[in-house]
Amino acid sequence: MKVFIDNNTGYLNDYHFKSLCLLYFPAEKFPEQDSSSCSVSFTLNKTANGLRASASVVSPYGNSSAECGEEDIIFTIPTAGEDIAAAVTGKAFLKAGEKLFGFLPPWGYLTGLRPVKRARYYLERGFRENKVRRLFENDYNVSSEKTSLSVRTAYSEIKLLSSITPKNCGVYVSVPFCPTRCDYCSFVSYSNNKLFRLIPEYLERLANDIKRTGSIIKETGFVPVSVYIGGGTPSFLSEEQLRFLLCAINKYIPMDSVREYSFEGGRPDTLTAQKLGIIKNGGVNRISVNPQSTCQRVLDAIGRKHTVEDFFKAASLAMKCGFSTVNTDLIAGLPEDTFDTFSKTLDDVINIGFENITVHTLSIKNASEIKNEYGAFDPVGRLARECVSYAGNTLTERGYDPYYLYRQKRTVGNGENTGFSLCGHESIYNVMMMEESSTVFACGAGAITKLVSVDGTRIERIAFPKYPFEYLERDDGIGEDRIHLFLLKG
Ligand code: SF4
Repeated sequence: MKVFIDNNTGYLNDYHFKSLCLLYFPAEKFPEQDSSSCSVSFTLNKTANGLRASASVVSPYGNSSAECGEEDIIFTIPTAGEDIAAAVTGKAFLKAGEKLFGFLPPWGYLTGLRPVKRARYYLERGFRENKVRRLFENDYNVSSEKTSLSVRTAYSEIKLLSSITPKNCGVYVSVPFCPTRCDYCSFVSYSNNKLFRLIPEYLERLANDIKRTGSIIKETGFVPVSVYIGGGTPSFLSEEQLRFLLCAINKYIPMDSVREYSFEGGRPDTLTAQKLGIIKNGGVNRISVNPQSTCQRVLDAIGRKHTVEDFFKAASLAMKCGFSTVNTDLIAGLPEDTFDTFSKTLDDVINIGFENITVHTLSIKNASEIKNEYGAFDPVGRLARECVSYAGNTLTERGYDPYYLYRQKRTVGNGENTGFSLCGHESIYNVMMMEESSTVFACGAGAITKLVSVDGTRIERIAFPKYPFEYLERDDGIGEDRIHLFLLKG
């Protein structure tokens, strides 16, 4: 897609304008040399009446244009220049898009990944709920359904984060290996026999980094409250390797203060009664078993090489093991999924008794096998939207509340990812990570340590090499010097 920007205001960067385009054209890319027949032209100017924007769309669906000025908007909450610029530009683009497609995107013109952060920001500063709702619905053009979801999630987050102090931290341990690669996956995860030979060496190095992380946590006076072993598929490790990893964590990380110890089981075909026993005995109290769908046709279409029966069996084993919380992940918008197969999947996981259910919307990434060829990105994305709405309503009726939420780019139907939970089973790690409210130390290939200052205004990221072979080749430590320097600044 070609994007032409005439902006003399000093507000908003080109990335913002391109992100707006994705609201109606989620499959578009923005290469330097573009021969696409699709283009959007934006203007954003300062006028005597304040900021004014226009958006003109030329596309295979038709052409359309619209304008919006500062005088057209009465802001619910006093708003700074950058936000006014985002509002007039966003509203001009939405008007043009609505003329063309006949609908408004559910998240209005909000392009950020963390819409709930805005709701929480205002609620925590004493703004009344109805004012925050008006801000979302009137000023940001967010639908009433997503406004309610944001406000409910913000309240859950406020409650969860009230038990976290600036000295609390999380620990993330990465195991980027999977038995086979799913077609929608964009993670760096090794899934071939040649690379599996790296696992023993990888675990040795990982244990060393866990040791260094434990040391720096003690030196700097951090108090860990959550540990998360993610992947990849950590349960792909052998029983002996699992014991080794859990033992390293228990030995080096100060675990007395840890109230949530999560293990991403992920692929059900890797979970056996023996492995679940080892994981449980290693101190883990929260585990995930993920089907994504309980329709075999859908699993086959997304290249997930396990059966529906594998999932029911692993879920039943996990439920019997006595973990405090068992989580499951679903994805709306998958190829071959229908409203009926999605709603059956949801009913299945509710009936199994998962305390924590995360509903994702498919997001198509460059690194995944699934591209847009299967037609995910019709501009309206109605089916995925219906599935996500159905999930939210059904889970609410069954006693689950949303407690964390994030959005991704290029998501089918402009949907979001929401974690739902029965009361007391929320994952504090997910909230800490997603809201960037606490420091999380990470270990392993592709992992990123996120340092958050005491007042929450500074964030620094320290990334480990992306691929396991790079991680093994380069040992630069865990970034001890940068961690100390960051903490010296308060
Ligand atoms: S199991 Fe998860 S991490 Fe592994 S390939 Fe599939 S989607 Fe990717």
